[in-house]
Amino acid sequence: MTTQMKASFLKKQGELAVETIPVPEVRADEVLVRVEAVGVCGSDVHYYAHGKIGPYVVEKPLILGHELSGVIAAVGSDVNPSRVGQRVAVEPQRPCGDCFQCNAGRYNLCPDIEFYATPPIDGAFCEYVTIQSKFAFEIPDSVSFEAAALMEPLSVGIWACERAEVGKGSRVLIAGAGPIGVIVAQTARALGAAEVIITDVAEDRREFALQHGATQALDPRVDELAGLEVDAFIDASGAPAAVQGGILAVRPAGRVILVGGGHDEYSLPISFIQNREIWISGVFRYTNTWPTAIEMVSSGKVDLDILVTGKFGLDEVEEALNAGKTAGQLKAIVYPGK
Ligand SMILES: [Zn+2]
Ligand SMILES: [Zn+2]
Repeated sequence: MTTQMKASFLKKQGELAVETIPVPEVRADEVLVRVEAVGVCGSDVHYYAHGKIGPYVVEKPLILGHELSGVIAAVGSDVNPSRVGQRVAVEPQRPCGDCFQCNAGRYNLCPDIEFYATPPIDGAFCEYVTIQSKFAFEIPDSVSFEAAALMEPLSVGIWACERAEVGKGSRVLIAGAGPIGVIVAQTARALGAAEVIITDVAEDRREFALQHGATQALDPRVDELAGLEVDAFIDASGAPAAVQGGILAVRPAGRVILVGGGHDEYSLPISFIQNREIWISGVFRYTNTWPTAIEMVSSGKVDLDILVTGKFGLDEVEEALNAGKTAGQLKAIVYPGK
C-alpha cells in the first residue's frame, strides 16, 4: 500500500496548495477510506474566503471538504477485514461517545466532537481519510459516489425535517431554493409531506425546485406568505427577511427550523410567536441520519445526482470553491483521485 498521498490545503485565507503528506494512520476502531468524491459546501467556501466561521479560525493549514464517499482501503485491528473494498458514504464526525449529550443520543451536540474540515480537524480534499468504522456506511452499487457524498447535506435536510416534525400530510414552507432548500424539499416529500412550498428570488432556482420536490414555488418579493398556515417553516436561506416572513406563515403550534446561517442577530415577530405558541429551533449537523439517507437515495425517493453541476480534480479545488459564484451552479464535486 502506498504510504504517501496528495492533499489540498487551505494554507491561509484565500490561499490553497496541493502537497504530498503521509497517508493517515488507522486507529483500532477506524477504517481507511480512499476518497472518490467530495461535495463542496458553503462552509468550505466560507473558510476559503474568510479564514474562519464564527469561533472556528484557520490557524494552521487545513484540508477542507466534509461531504464524501469512497472505498475502504484498509481497516483497524478491531474492524472486520471483510470490509476492505466496500463502497461507503462517510459520516464525517467523531463524537466522544461518553458525555452527557452523547449518552442522551444527541452526539451532534457533544462538546468534544471532532468534525471534518472544522479547525483544527482536517477534511477530505485528499486521497485518503480515516473514520470510525461505524461512520463508514456501505452503499448499494446503484448509488453513485457523487450521491453518496451528498448524503451529508441530505442528512442536514433529514435532521431539519425531523426537528420540524414533517410527516405524512404535512404542509411545509421552505425559504431558499439552493442545494439545501432543494434537498429539504425532496426530503419533505419523501417523508410524506402533502404540500411543499419553496420561496426564492431567482426564477431559475424556483423552476428547478418545482421539478425536484416542491409543489409550489413563490417569489417572496411579490407573493404573500402570511396566511399560508403551514405546519412547518424551514429556513434554508439565512436571510433575515425570509425568516421574518416565513414565521408569519406558520399555524398555531407549528414549527420553525433555522438551517441557513450568515447573520448572528436579527429581530423576530415575538408577539406572533407567543400568541401562536410557535416552536423555533436551530439545527446543528445531525444524529443517526445516514441509514435514512441511504434508504431515500437507493429507493429513488431523493435524487442527489441532479444537484451536481461541476466536476474538479484535486489541483482544481480553487475553481471548485469559486464555482458557486456562477449562476445556475448548485454543487461542485472534487475527485481527489483524478
Ligand atoms: Zn456541508
Ligand atoms: Zn460526547
